[in-house]
Amino acid sequence: MSETPQKRLYIKTYGCQMNVYDSERMADVLRPLGYGVVDDPEGADLVVLNTCHIREKATEKVYSELGYIKQMKGRKAQAGGKMTIAVAGCVAQAEGKEIMHRQPAVDLVVGPQAYHQLPELIARAHRATGERLSADFAADEKFDALPAERQVNGVTAFLTVQEGCDKFCTFCVVPYTRGGEWSRPPEAIEDEARRLADQGVREVTLLGQNVNAYDGGGHTLAKLVRRLARIPGLDRIRYTTSHPRDMGEDLIAAHGELPQLMPYLHLPVQAGSDKILKAMNRDHTAESYVRLVEKIRAARPDIAMSGDFIVGFPGERDGDFDKTLELVREVGFASAFSFKYSRRPGTPASAMPGQVDEAVKAERLDRLNALLDAQQKAFNALQVGKVLPVLFEKKGRNPGQIVGRSPYLQAVHAVGPDSLLGQIVPVRIESSAKMSLGGVLENQSLLESA
Ligand code: SF4
Repeated sequence: MSETPQKRLYIKTYGCQMNVYDSERMADVLRPLGYGVVDDPEGADLVVLNTCHIREKATEKVYSELGYIKQMKGRKAQAGGKMTIAVAGCVAQAEGKEIMHRQPAVDLVVGPQAYHQLPELIARAHRATGERLSADFAADEKFDALPAERQVNGVTAFLTVQEGCDKFCTFCVVPYTRGGEWSRPPEAIEDEARRLADQGVREVTLLGQNVNAYDGGGHTLAKLVRRLARIPGLDRIRYTTSHPRDMGEDLIAAHGELPQLMPYLHLPVQAGSDKILKAMNRDHTAESYVRLVEKIRAARPDIAMSGDFIVGFPGERDGDFDKTLELVREVGFASAFSFKYSRRPGTPASAMPGQVDEAVKAERLDRLNALLDAQQKAFNALQVGKVLPVLFEKKGRNPGQIVGRSPYLQAVHAVGPDSLLGQIVPVRIESSAKMSLGGVLENQSLLESA
């Protein structure tokens, strides 16, 4: 991990041993955000009062302490610094927003047993003042990194349109490492897309951590896609990664109306148990996800659905995992990415109780993968006998073979001349495997002209 400048965290603990324990956990979850514990509130960057309600006049004591801290906050502001004040524990639970009303110097309140929410609350408080939180997380290969923008030497390219995330899934570091959602202006994207098309690119994949939350000067992602679909030569448009809650009606409609928008959608669901989805802070239920997929399929019946899954999230019991399998059976995925939950220090979920045993996670992942693999094979097998338009991208491993992608993002191998690279050609699919399809050129004269 890289070194970040140490920020000063002062925690005052009132009451019972449980609160002492919680204060230690708060220090743990805040460490990756660069906070180190100090024993004097004067000059601190973050002051947490971890309160207790049991003793008489406890609430009044907290307000009186807040009076002193407020003065320190004022002194720090005069010196050009910023102090964030948080009230945690039982008084926060009992008084809630009343605390912020009575003492406006307080920036946030967090109830007992909710210390794991502190990173999110602090990140949100910082964003509200336009400040960027410097975090010290190791890069997360699963969620943090967008695919690198591809050097254009072929016919497909990635194009970043959006970065950052406001969703704060409790397992994920992106909202801390990448900051809030930010969209590139549509004009800049269109310019880049035109340049790509001029260089021979026929397919772009619009990239963003929350790509369907795209909001560029009045443009939703659907409007952006419609704009790009008018660019001559740009025949295929894809986008990734999407959040179910940002799947707007206009984007769903675009899937039914725009031939350039490919019938493939990566729409992570993560789990099938509402209890786990809530703990993940996903803001959708299993039922709402299934209904959403139904709507998308009503607009584009042949769409290939892809998903992300996490197994063994804290608190996941056998019954919860069974609901993930049920959801997979109900939706039917053409492809998927599945992972065992792994603790990321500083993320809220890493501090949650009920961490699942590694062997249990491994066993669940095996069962999930067996089901997802079977679905992927079945989806691929359905293509046999059909004629699919394939955008050929490169030579295959075998002599005379070329490889491209179907509209559903399947790799398709066929025998054909190199002159077809960069072209969209009808291919009759003759065989299927888990990862690819094999076929022959529908128009055999293309072979003869080689
Ligand atoms: S939506 Fe969730 S998983 Fe995706 S980047 Fe944001 S916080 Fe991470």
